[in-house]
Amino acid sequence: MPPLDTQAQRGRPAIAQLPELVKNQIAAGEVIERPASVVKELVENALDAGASRIHLDLEEGGVQLVRIVDDGGGIPPEEIPLAFASHATSKLSQVADLDHIATLGFRGEALASIASVARCRLFSRQRGALLGAAVEIEGGALGEVRESGGPEGTRIEVRDLFYNTPARRRFLKTTATELGRCLDIVQRLALAQPGVGFVVTHDGRRAFEVEPSMDLRARVRRTFGAELADALVPVEAADGDTRLSGFVAPPRFSRNDTTRQMWFLNGRPLRDRILSRVLKDAYRGFVVDGRQTVAFLSLAMDPARVDVNVHPAKAEVRFRDERRVFGFLVGSLRAAVQSMDLATPGERLIERLEQRGELTPRQATLPAPAWEREPRPVPSFRDEAPRALPVFVREAPAAPSAPVAPTEGAQKPEEIRGPLLQVGRTYILRAVDDGFEIVDQHALHERLTLELLKDELARGGIEVQRRLVPELVEVGGAAAQLIEPHLESLARIGLVLARFGTGTIAVQGVPARFRHPDPSTLVHEVIAAIERSGSTPGAEELLEEILHRTACRSSVMAGDELSEIEMRALLARARGNDSSQTCAHGRPTRVRFTLADLERAFYRR
Ligand code: ADP
Ligand code: MG
Repeated sequence: MPPLDTQAQRGRPAIAQLPELVKNQIAAGEVIERPASVVKELVENALDAGASRIHLDLEEGGVQLVRIVDDGGGIPPEEIPLAFASHATSKLSQVADLDHIATLGFRGEALASIASVARCRLFSRQRGALLGAAVEIEGGALGEVRESGGPEGTRIEVRDLFYNTPARRRFLKTTATELGRCLDIVQRLALAQPGVGFVVTHDGRRAFEVEPSMDLRARVRRTFGAELADALVPVEAADGDTRLSGFVAPPRFSRNDTTRQMWFLNGRPLRDRILSRVLKDAYRGFVVDGRQTVAFLSLAMDPARVDVNVHPAKAEVRFRDERRVFGFLVGSLRAAVQSMDLATPGERLIERLEQRGELTPRQATLPAPAWEREPRPVPSFRDEAPRALPVFVREAPAAPSAPVAPTEGAQKPEEIRGPLLQVGRTYILRAVDDGFEIVDQHALHERLTLELLKDELARGGIEVQRRLVPELVEVGGAAAQLIEPHLESLARIGLVLARFGTGTIAVQGVPARFRHPDPSTLVHEVIAAIERSGSTPGAEELLEEILHRTACRSSVMAGDELSEIEMRALLARARGNDSSQTCAHGRPTRVRFTLADLERAFYRR
């Protein structure tokens, strides 16, 4: 019988241990897929080392360079070679430790893996040590560890990722994509670790930054914007030594993906199916099927009650008492969801109007009126009473006293039907055919007053209300001098002023249509208008400018309680007036919401 045809005889290679470099490259396949994985491992190491400031510089999306500098505890020089050896870690010494892992790393593989697929440099100086040490490692070959000066903490540079494994390198995406993934990792870790500051630069430009002192809400604001950050509802709950804290967002922030569902377990970001289910259950009935809610939640629990060693990237975990944890989480979150204000903010509607071009951003050319700049307290009913006492007497007895009386204006206006509602003593709401309308009573009245005054002026003169006793307004000599040459034209627009001594102006009369004429404010507006109109103000221009300003001051103010009759009269007058769509400064006087807007706000379409 011929001898058996053995494998060895066919030229098969014998079983042998793989070289260390190849082993590490194979291990790297599991944890180092792209620059973002390098960033994740290095930042986690810095956090494990107790860093409170972490600085990252990236080039070309991290492919060319990932440099990290931390102010953590550092590595003693004699341990530096070990840091790059595989399965070498300072975080785990016995099998028993695996049952209560409190650090982010523990497998002792990251640096060895990274060093097998990139060119690395490390400098580290232990806290309190006089000197540090530096080393280079390329192709898994460790250079000489040399004493070196530098700040306390650790600096690691990883260059030319996958330079020796071209197949991997080919799988990398564009710079923008790789950078996006790096930033995503840093932002998650930054949200997981309030108390730690992060700075990231890309190709020399700052790409992300949070200061150590910023809390979770501030970090969400920095990362995702103020609208979300301001709407977050806090969650705080405990079950024994398991603590849940963080924020959930109202359902209107839901999205098609889970990228803004962030769970942190003892400072470690997790992506875990169980936790997505927790959120789904907590929001059941509050969010449309298929939409993913937004939440930033931290779980703190005894490391012994959870197994984080089920996944090489450690993104999944296994809770030892899953049902209890699940029940606790759903219960606490549901309570928070139920406490939320679920109303869609009108802001959303406004954005839609702006997109439709129905609201243009402010065109105001004049500075915001004083009542806007320094909002005065809304007067109570009692504040109103003394104002009713007449300080002025009318020169001409004809005009009705209420400036918004229905008989005012050129033509007899049609009646305004339907209920009106005054909100905040500033806005009038009413239903219109295709939705509803909000009128800014001040802006509208200001516009109407102005139009009337211009009309009167064109027809010969503005009706004046004379003061029984002139009101004296101190303005200083220069300002008084400034007004003096204009006294005559001012009188034409109903502002009867006189110089009184060197620095005082006596207010003898104001336009009768002014509702709350405050002599001192009027005089100061006049001065401002004259100053503004420059060296050669045309008399008409100047008067118009002053009318604008003073009409604004003297109109129905935000804060005036209007009777139903007054509201109707105001709206009716606006009907016949083409320019009443905007106030004298170009701000809208009314905002209209259509039924379509409402349907959208209520998710009916
Ligand atoms: P692991 O984090 O799983 O322990 P690594 O390969 O990531 O494994 O790191 C190996 C060891 O190097 C760590 O256990 C730690 O002692 C040390 N080390 C790595 N990075 C730092 C750092 N930034 N500061 C201090 N020590 C570090
Ligand atoms: Mg590590």
